[in-house]
Amino acid sequence: MKFGGTSVAGTERIRRVANIVRAQAAGGNQVAVVVSAMAGETDRLVTFCREANPLYDPAEYDVVVASGEQVTSGLLALTLQSMGCKARSWLGWQLPVKTFSNHANARVEEIDAERLLASMAAGEIAVIPGFQGVSDQGRITTMGRGGSDTSAVAVAAAIGADRCDIYTDVDGVYTTDPRIVARARKIKHIAFEEMLELASVGAKVLQTRSVSMAMKHNVPVQVLSSFVDEDSPPADSLPGTMIVSESEMAKLLEEAQVERQTVTGIAHDKNEARVVLTRVPDKPGAVANIFTPLGEAGINVDMIIQNVGRDKGETDVTFTVPQAELARAQALLEDKREKIGFNRIITDAKVAKISVVGMGMKSHAGVAATMFKALADRGINVQAISTSEIKVSVLIDEDETELAVRVLHTAYGLDAEEVAA
Ligand code: ADP
Ligand code: ASP
Ligand code: MG
Repeated sequence: MKFGGTSVAGTERIRRVANIVRAQAAGGNQVAVVVSAMAGETDRLVTFCREANPLYDPAEYDVVVASGEQVTSGLLALTLQSMGCKARSWLGWQLPVKTFSNHANARVEEIDAERLLASMAAGEIAVIPGFQGVSDQGRITTMGRGGSDTSAVAVAAAIGADRCDIYTDVDGVYTTDPRIVARARKIKHIAFEEMLELASVGAKVLQTRSVSMAMKHNVPVQVLSSFVDEDSPPADSLPGTMIVSESEMAKLLEEAQVERQTVTGIAHDKNEARVVLTRVPDKPGAVANIFTPLGEAGINVDMIIQNVGRDKGETDVTFTVPQAELARAQALLEDKREKIGFNRIITDAKVAKISVVGMGMKSHAGVAATMFKALADRGINVQAISTSEIKVSVLIDEDETELAVRVLHTAYGLDAEEVAA
């Protein structure tokens, strides 16, 4: 069981979480619980680091930001104890959750579950702070924002759990962010591949890495709400969204338990920035000169468009980088101006990427055309496009994000008949 930030935001909420955990244990289950920091706490800690030293050392940043989860894990163990349950906390370095040493964005290497399993078998509820681990050098690491989801799936895989229930502030994965589109629909079953794509294009309900880890270790994951009444259906009756393998999905489709849509979900991401280099020579090697230095500097380029050539063998090249890397990318390109041979560099951080995702796309033509038409009808200009087998993304003006998501949600027939409560 994993509980996110809003689910543990204060002692009163933690008491509700403890009740949900106790009910699972009382039902005869051995339970390991992973908790996030209280909502807003990690942001607060990140701000402290920036104030202390804008060029902070990521290893010390990890020492600071990992502390939010230490607090909530101790508090949940205390609350469970106050209810008469046996419970103890296991910090990242105690389990240990071994990670690679890339601080602030560490990947899980291995979890030693032996002591954890023994303690659980002895009837103790294990409470584990998410997000944190320990490096080979014995230093505290964190797994990137939203990383508690990955901690939970990693623990579930390490102990061979029957299921990993991710409790959050919505009752499942929706066709799009229900806070943006009131007519978003809850998806009962979604394939790992689709969830992975949705997460990676901005649906922040699950950290992308948690989905790829669940897929790799075949951990059944359910997303459900911790904001429930006493009489609501228990987790075991699968009230939320189940993330399942493609073969299970095929079975459900065959039994007509689910219907295959062309588009399963829509996501948006405001964290990219657009870069345009004008009048780049239109000749072999030109784009390599642009993207090789960016790659070497570890800057991820996402969407790329090479515009139609101008006169005199010149062309404009448009691409996107993470907003946080924009200044670094710009400086690097300025530095290589001679070698690349561009005229101007134009940047815009006020852009949003809107993506439509669905396995059904593989066998349906016209998905992108529907997207472009729906946007054009509302006067929304498309600045860049990228596609994969199960996704189409467009880059638009950030101010038009909500409108675009809503329009596409309707265009692909995803609107629920009734507005979600
Ligand atoms: P937690 O603190 O529990 O980890 P997050 O804030 O990280 O919670 O993720 C839950 C939020 O994800 C929801 O409140 C919702 O606004 C957002 N979200 C974005 N896309 C979706 C989606 N497709 N389905 C459900 N929630 C989504
Ligand atoms: N507390 C961390 C964050 O806010 C990890 C998490 O909540 O998943 O990013
Ligand atoms: Mg989260």
